Parts: sequence; C-alpha cells; structure tokens
Amino acid sequence: MQPLLKAPSSLPSWPKRPRRWLQYCAITLVIALLITIWEPYLWSNRYRVAWIFGEAIYKVQTSEKVVALTFDDGPDPRYTQQISQLLADAGARSTFFVIGRHAEQYPDLIDTLIQQGHELGNHTWSHPSLRLMLPGVMRAELESTDRLLHSYGYESPIPFRSPYGHSWFVLPQILKLRRQPNILWTVQLNDWKPEKPSIMMDLLETKFDNGAIILLHDGDGESEGADRANTVEVVKLILEKYIPQGYQFVTVSELLHRGKPLHFQ
Ligand SMILES: [Zn+2]
Repeated sequence: MQPLLKAPSSLPSWPKRPRRWLQYCAITLVIALLITIWEPYLWSNRYRVAWIFGEAIYKVQTSEKVVALTFDDGPDPRYTQQISQLLADAGARSTFFVIGRHAEQYPDLIDTLIQQGHELGNHTWSHPSLRLMLPGVMRAELESTDRLLHSYGYESPIPFRSPYGHSWFVLPQILKLRRQPNILWTVQLNDWKPEKPSIMMDLLETKFDNGAIILLHDGDGESEGADRANTVEVVKLILEKYIPQGYQFVTVSELLHRGKPLHFQ
C-alpha cells in the first residue's frame, strides 16, 4: 500500500559547519563569561595575570623609612582640609586621588591642597568601575579630570588610581598609551566601612614597612555624605606613632623616586 504522505525529496538542513565568525563569537563569549565568574580568584592572583589587569604598582622597594599615605574619593568639605592640615602641620605630604566631579564642586579645597604641597592624583571623573566600559568613555573619565586639575594651575604630573583598583583589558591599554601605571596600594584600612581607628592601627601594623603605599579615604565615591571622621582620627594616630620612629610621609611620586617600584606583574 502506498503511504499517504511522501517525504519531501530534500529536507532543509542546518549547515554542517556553523560559520567561522559564529564560532569565534561563541568562544569569546564563553571566555568572557568564565573570566567574569573567576574574577575574584584572578584578582587575588593578579600579579600572575598581568595581561588582564595591566601594570600596577603596590609598593616601593627601599631601605629608607619613607611611606606614602594616599586619600581617595575627595575632596570633601567636611574632611579633606582637616586631614591635609594635620599632614601639613606634621611636615607630611600626601597624594589625594580626587574624583573630577568633586574637584569641580570644591575648587577652594583643591587650591588648599596645592598650596600645602600635596600631590593631586586622578581617580576618574565619576568613579565608575573601569572593567566594562567603552574605550572612548573611559578615556574621557581620565582626560576630563586631568584637564580640570590643570585648569586649577596644577602643573605636576598627575598619577592615576582606578576606582576599586579595577583594571580590566581596556584600561591597561589606555594607561600604556598615557605611559603611566595604575597606582594601587600595599594596605587599605577599611576606613570606608568605617572601621574603628584602633582596629585600623592594628591592621596597619602588620603591613607597615619602608616603601608602603597606604590607602585611606577623605571622601566618598558612591554616595555623598559618608562618615570619614575615623579617617581623620587614624591619620592623627599614624603621624603620632610613626614620625617619632623616623618615618617620613611623602607623595606617591616622591616615593617612586626613592626606590624600586614593585609591580603586580
Ligand atoms: Zn575610590
């Protein structure tokens, strides 16, 4: 008996081999996904995967008793001047990695930092994570902040520190073109939590060393109004404890000249 329906002589079929560009896209997507999932692990081993995270300096090798205190996320009218005055009174110079939009809001604070001999650093215009961002937007974050600081009459080279320390494929290429490293840190004191000053001092003790770069915060990168009173307190304690021991607190650029920069790569 004849079947009622005849199978068509040629059924449409998937191409035997998907197009090559589709294969590349799929592989790239899988690699990006895996890297994103493993980011916390990769970050803790960043000195082994410099091709992802780029060149970053976390300390300087030196036999001299020099240390850099650095302050991120300002300027903030409640804390920046208190901190900079404490430092100036103690003969210390620090690097303030400012956020461009805050610097635009408080030109007088920037002027005070310059007058007191502190160094200005670039911490981007709006404090985004620089991991997933179009290169043009990323460049604008850096360049607009540099331009603003220069417009205030600041003529020295401006070191850069990425928000959250994030650096991811594109930023390392941009920094390479700008011929500058990402300045990270030897120890951060959890002052952003904010942590108690006595606990911060205990934490610092374990990492305090010649050539250390210490991360503190005089402002807030995410929301306005974070409490940095404990940061002011801990700055007093640090100066009181270590200056009598013969330590000198200098800017990041000065520190880099006083020894051999230690890189993550
Ligand atoms: Zn920050």
